Amino acid sequence: MAKSINQLCSEAYETAKSKGWHDEPRETGTLLALVHSEVSEALEADRKGNQEGFEVELADVCIRIFDICGSSNIDLEDAILTKMERNKGRSYKHGNKAY
Ligand SMILES: [Mg+2]
Repeated sequence: MAKSINQLCSEAYETAKSKGWHDEPRETGTLLALVHSEVSEALEADRKGNQEGFEVELADVCIRIFDICGSSNIDLEDAILTKMERNKGRSYKHGNKAY
């Protein structure tokens, strides 16, 4: 059976904690910068045509986010489902936004 998103959050947090990454508190800004660093690694892998590396770095992005949510008791699963439902109700290209 597949694990739920919140199970993955707990697991990512427990793994990071067991490796010492939560021995001292870190600022949210630092944690978000680390998410961004994984996004940058994904960009570099894609630019090099490294599909396997691209997939691994996207996984790292998720794992970093899972760790943040697991350590903060954020219900990421509910947040994602709620936002995805909200997105369904948005207008085409959100009213002609460029991005
Ligand atoms: Mg990485």
